[in-house]
Formats: sequence, structure tokens, C-alpha cells
Amino acid sequence: MHCFNHQKREAIGTCCRCNKGICEDCYLMRKEQLTCSDLCTEKMEEINQIHECAKKIYDIGQKRPQTILPLTAILLLALGATFVGYALYECIVQSYCLAIDIWIAILGVLFALGGLMHWRRAKRTGINW
Ligand SMILES: [Zn+2]
Ligand SMILES: [Zn+2]
Repeated sequence: MHCFNHQKREAIGTCCRCNKGICEDCYLMRKEQLTCSDLCTEKMEEINQIHECAKKIYDIGQKRPQTILPLTAILLLALGATFVGYALYECIVQSYCLAIDIWIAILGVLFALGGLMHWRRAKRTGINW
């Protein structure tokens, strides 16, 4: 491919906006992107800005620290802890262990496990629900 402005010269790349071939003498380099003219650079930066805005709006590509804790996971863990706690209280403190207390304890453990799975998924995917 040859330069759009100099038909005899070999192009070193293409303008990232208009796709014209550009040679060593013609190219402009802005933010690691090749452009052929100031106009293209200007337009390219406008496009980049739009991209940056869209990223912010849609929350793409930004590594945010996990500041918000996954609510569902917390809810499940709290529920699990309450159930297990209640069953333990009945069985150990009251020394009065009924079949229902065992079931409550099992349910509590299941809730807690669900909570942990939610938590791990939330950590992995960054989805907080
Ligand atoms: Zn161009
Ligand atoms: Zn050229």
C-alpha cells in the first residue's frame, strides 16, 4: 500500500479514522493511534471522548475496587447464621433439641452456603446482587 499523499512512497500504516495510507512524512501520532491530518486527529479524539463517556455510562472496562458488598450474599449469610444460631441455642443452651431444630440448622447451613457462593461469584464478576 502507498501513501495517499505520496503515491510513490510506501505507507507505514493507515489513518485510524479515514483509513488512508500514510507514509513516514505524513503521519501524525496521537495516543498511539495513527492519523493523516489534524482534522482526523481532532475527529479521532472526539470519538475517543465519546468512547470514554460510553464506558463510564455503561461501566465497561473499569477495574473498580469492590467497595459495595454483595447484598444478596450478606442477606443469605445473615439468614443462615440466624437459623444455625437459633438451632444451636435451642439444642445447647436450652438442651431441648427437636427435629425441627435440626432442620432449621440444615436450612441455615444451606443459606450460608448459598451466601458464600453468591459472594464468590460477586467477587469474580463484580456483580453486586
Ligand atoms: Zn485521516
Ligand atoms: Zn506521505
